[in-house]
Amino acid sequence: MKGSRMSGVVATEESQGMDTRAFKRSLNSSENYHRKGFGHEADVSDQMQSEYQSSLVQQIRANNFTIQRGAVTIRLAEAFGFCWGVERAVAMAYETRQHFPTERIWITNEIIHNPSVNQRLREMNVKFIGVIDGDKDFSGVDRGDVVILPAFGASVQEMQFLNERGCTIVDTTCPWVSKVWTTVEKHKKVDYTSIIHGKYNHEETVATSSFAGKYLIVLNMAEAEYVANYILNGGDRDEFMTKFDHAHSAGFDPDRDLDRVGIANQTTMLKGETEQLGKLFERTMMRKYGPDQLNQHFLSFNTICDATQERQDAMFELVEEKLDLMMVIGGYNSSNTTHLQEIAIERGIPSYHIDSADRIGPGNRIEHKPLKRDLEVAANWLPSGPVVVGITSGASTPDKIVEDVLEKIFALKATVTVAK
Ligand code: SF4
Repeated sequence: MKGSRMSGVVATEESQGMDTRAFKRSLNSSENYHRKGFGHEADVSDQMQSEYQSSLVQQIRANNFTIQRGAVTIRLAEAFGFCWGVERAVAMAYETRQHFPTERIWITNEIIHNPSVNQRLREMNVKFIGVIDGDKDFSGVDRGDVVILPAFGASVQEMQFLNERGCTIVDTTCPWVSKVWTTVEKHKKVDYTSIIHGKYNHEETVATSSFAGKYLIVLNMAEAEYVANYILNGGDRDEFMTKFDHAHSAGFDPDRDLDRVGIANQTTMLKGETEQLGKLFERTMMRKYGPDQLNQHFLSFNTICDATQERQDAMFELVEEKLDLMMVIGGYNSSNTTHLQEIAIERGIPSYHIDSADRIGPGNRIEHKPLKRDLEVAANWLPSGPVVVGITSGASTPDKIVEDVLEKIFALKATVTVAK
């Protein structure tokens, strides 16, 4: 950390040596720290209902997740949209505005990965901490300001800084994310290295790694297999360090720090992949140390969030149906939405990831984000004739946005059919 600027990428040596559990305990007992709402639930619930809910989506849910209008049949996934952790975080942010009507309110990052929800907070005069050269700039934050921590949490350094600066902290971190922090703290306590399945620069993983002791972040099975192979057979240390640049704790040494490992995850990764990765390391430690010694070298706790699991399971069911195309709706930086898109692509279904209805049109055009590529425009994406469209949305997407997309599709389809 430099003055009021903080790196958003890796935990520092400072936090590795820190007793994060003791810090959290002391924070919990502070009157300036809030992890629950402020008693305005009823008002906020009405407001959120009118801003984010959709009567059309409710109607489709009640109709076995299906609706047909003209030549369009919509099949909704049976679990999609706002998860309770996201709903809770947004409600807490709304309550914070009500409870502190005149105070300056900041948020350390997007509350959730949805542009319209973040825009709504801006309209409520909630300020977002800026980023300069990759570092967050806290210089505008003063004693007495209120600072909201988003659903995917904040690093322990940020919490410590805000606490020392005398801010009121409203912590909306999802309890599932806090559960992962507790897991890496357990690894730290017994001196295990946390292998975190996630993206090293995702805010949630940045926060999780700040609570860990030694850690290594692996993105996918290919990286996990590389590490497992290194554990069993050794390898080129320099190559290892280059490969995992930015993705390990300070001072990490693969020749020393991979003999006892525990598994943790970014809660929005593909559930099956996290499970596979855990099994891989379990097998690896079993092969290296034998079954009798496994418990001295491997730790695993279930930290896969129910909401992520349900949305992914529903998507696997939906892609079994005969769909002409899929629409995956959610923020472009939303990890769980991207994973839903991956499921459709793997099935070979034409799938369009969009973040709002404004991406559709003018005419039969759509601006969408293909996997691992920048935005592209596709023409004539909605075919003429009867069409079955599968729909899902990420955990940070309000139903209202899904409704807007559906209405756009119905309207466009009417013109496509007429033009035929
Ligand atoms: S996806 Fe899971 S971990 Fe993330 S906010 Fe929702 S409930 Fe919490």
